[in-house]
Amino acid sequence: MAKLIIVPTPIGNLEDITLRSIRMLRETELIFAEDTRVCNRLLQHLEIRKTVIPFHAHNEHKTLQSAMDRIKSIETAVLVSDAGTPGISDPGFLLVRECLANGIEVECLPGPTAFVPALVASGFPCDKFVFEGFLPHKKGRQTRLQVLAEEERTVVLYESPHRLVKCLAQLGEFFGAERQICVARELTKLHEEYKRGTSQELVSYYEAHPPKGEIVILVQGKL
Ligand code: SAM
Repeated sequence: MAKLIIVPTPIGNLEDITLRSIRMLRETELIFAEDTRVCNRLLQHLEIRKTVIPFHAHNEHKTLQSAMDRIKSIETAVLVSDAGTPGISDPGFLLVRECLANGIEVECLPGPTAFVPALVASGFPCDKFVFEGFLPHKKGRQTRLQVLAEEERTVVLYESPHRLVKCLAQLGEFFGAERQICVARELTKLHEEYKRGTSQELVSYYEAHPPKGEIVILVQGKL
């Protein structure tokens, strides 16, 4: 009976992969990966030799059928993305949906994902939150910001370093100057950093210290 196993991979620190994830990578017959080079580096580190097939955002629709054909012909296939949990702002959803529609069991292992540690360490309420991922760059961005500004739960965003200052300024504009924000950067890596403050305070900080690396933004919910 075929089965698809979603395996989360480290978001920076290689020690964060679980023992079960390593075993699944070792035991599976086939690995689908967002970027085969990234996956092969991880496999090399874990001393695992396995067939790795590309499954990334650019070919997700196109290769869905061939991926399904392969999965049906074997016992277990694994899906990994470059970092964190596949399906979370990464390819995965379409394959999961297609497997379920074809009666193929899907299991997602618990493991690294950037927004959970960022949210928990932000100091904002984390019993209820909204994960928004990346905001649209152009079309629909303002509408999303208007909707999120009314949100009473903590809002979680993914952002790239070169857009951070613009995004923080817009959060001040749409959410109000008093709203507290936390920027979580380079989680699990050497230069992990949390900065907390208002939009204006954070804009000033990051204009003086241009950010590098990967970023999660947490915004306090509307009080
Ligand atoms: N699948 C991943 C997950 O489970 O979190 C997310 C993949 S998404 C393409 C990449 C984004 O996740 C980055 O732009 C950043 O917003 C966030 N991210 C990934 N790793 C991170 C890290 N080490 N520190 C902070 N944010 C990170």
